[in-house]
Amino acid sequence: METHDVVIVGGRLAGSAAAAALARAGRDVVVLERGRLPSDTLSTHVLFSAGIEEVRRMGALDDLLALDPSYMRGIQLHMGDDVTVRERWSPEGETDYVLCVPRTIQDVVLADAARRAGADVREGSEMLDVLWEGGRAAGVRYRAADGEVRDVRCRLVLGADGRRSTVAARVGAWRPYRGSLNGRGLVFRYLDDPQAGTELNETLMQWRDGTSFCMVFPSAPRPRTVALVMGPAADVPRARKDPEGTWAEFLRRHPGFAERIAGATNVGKLRSTNDVSAYFRPSSGPGWALIGDAGHFKDPVIGQGQRDALWMGRTAGEAAAAAIEDPAALDAALRRWEQLRDEECLAAYHLANAETRIAPQPPALVEIARRAQGRGAPDLGDLFQRTRTQQEVLTVPRLVGGAVGAMARRPRQALSILRASIPDLRTDLAVRAEARAGRFRSTRVVTGSEHPGWTWPAAPTRRDPAPATPSAGTAASDARVAAARVPAPAPAAAAPTPSSPTTEVPA
Ligand SMILES: Cc1cc2nc3c(=O)[nH]c(=O)nc-3n(C[C@H](O)[C@H](O)[C@H](O)COP(=O)(O)OP(=O)(O)OC[C@H]3O[C@@H](n4cnc5c(N)ncnc54)[C@H](O)[C@@H]3O)c2cc1C
Repeated sequence: METHDVVIVGGRLAGSAAAAALARAGRDVVVLERGRLPSDTLSTHVLFSAGIEEVRRMGALDDLLALDPSYMRGIQLHMGDDVTVRERWSPEGETDYVLCVPRTIQDVVLADAARRAGADVREGSEMLDVLWEGGRAAGVRYRAADGEVRDVRCRLVLGADGRRSTVAARVGAWRPYRGSLNGRGLVFRYLDDPQAGTELNETLMQWRDGTSFCMVFPSAPRPRTVALVMGPAADVPRARKDPEGTWAEFLRRHPGFAERIAGATNVGKLRSTNDVSAYFRPSSGPGWALIGDAGHFKDPVIGQGQRDALWMGRTAGEAAAAAIEDPAALDAALRRWEQLRDEECLAAYHLANAETRIAPQPPALVEIARRAQGRGAPDLGDLFQRTRTQQEVLTVPRLVGGAVGAMARRPRQALSILRASIPDLRTDLAVRAEARAGRFRSTRVVTGSEHPGWTWPAAPTRRDPAPATPSAGTAASDARVAAARVPAPAPAAAAPTPSSPTTEVPA
């Protein structure tokens, strides 16, 4: 049987970043990617500076910039009719701009960087099952690009296979231990920007109008641009039924957004989803770990998933590379890594949860933004750049000052503003307390951040790994497939329970 140090399942952001880190550290890595790149995946592609720095570390930034992206050098934030904040970004390392490169072209660059670092990236290769030895993950069974089912032995299986992670299902970590229901829907389309070449084309723009957010992300290659509306989840079925009617309604409801993209050409069809609930899964165990969306996801409203997937891939890869020889040290290193991931992602998770609440903008926040107008220096944009956490940007004195200022501006509504501000302040204090406590895999709900009603679909069932087509050397491969056959899928009623590790490495 083939043997490698690490098998990574999934070859986009998290998988490529982990593969590059491991291969650079001299580890022998195979990446199994079910799809063939270039291929699309549902995303709005914004990559903040910290994510761009991760791409630089992978040695892939020059190739990304060669795709002729627009450079977003600042943010323009509109809050209602009369508040507009314009800011430059805080730089992260050498980067002071933000990109939005479609995944069809970006992910090829990342996979190529992993290959250049020395990883063996196998496209068209679908992982079917995790193999076990003495209670440890010890390899995977996969269907190769030629249709043959093969087994690979390894010291570590890294699941970088996204939200519907088969690795998570096979290692018994399918069901997250905490999560939050998103109330927002996401509807977007590509177009060619009439403002190409102007300062507007170098600006990430967001309108917070009523209960909706509208955004414009200049993309790649120029003048491609993403125009996005995140309103109530109920917008999504309407947009699917009547795309152009719903888009026309968005433009009527949000005149600033409509003005920004007026005159756009080459306008593509609408894309949409309202299936973006946030979660944390247990993400490390004996011989396995989950990186990227496979282990943790938060609402794309704050555009942090790509950055975090790259960060998780690199840091998990580095942690594993240093301990790969010793199973106990490897498991301990990945458990520490999981704790570090939670510390890294918790504030952004809560911020994203807050941003998915379908409600008018909190008066205290509008007042804070009003006071930040005209400064130009980095401030609220740090929430997206992750230079500072929400709690560091929106300090308690600033929140209290915002609420008091809003009450002074509208004395007749002072009582309702006070009533609206107190729960937000309470949630903020609970988030601070949680960050200080540093609990591991905490299931304690932070009221006000984690929206109830969150459900989880059934785990993917095991599929019959018989080869799709007979291949050369049929007798030998048929015998191997027969030996590798796994039990039939569990009946539907049992499906929500994570599948148990049952497939032992064949002797
Ligand atoms: C609608 C939407 C918009 C978003 N917009 C943004 C944004 O603007 N900015 C941002 O930063 N983030 C955004 N995100 C989040 C971002 O897309 C994800 O966080 C990111 O793609 C995670 O990368 P990943 O490598 O972990 O997983 P993925 O990108 O999901 O890649 C997983 C890979 O695993 C492969 N795979 C799955 N199963 C198997 C298997 N059994 N065998 C082999 N391969 C397998 C898949 O083919 C896939 O290529 C958005 C997400 C959504 C849903």
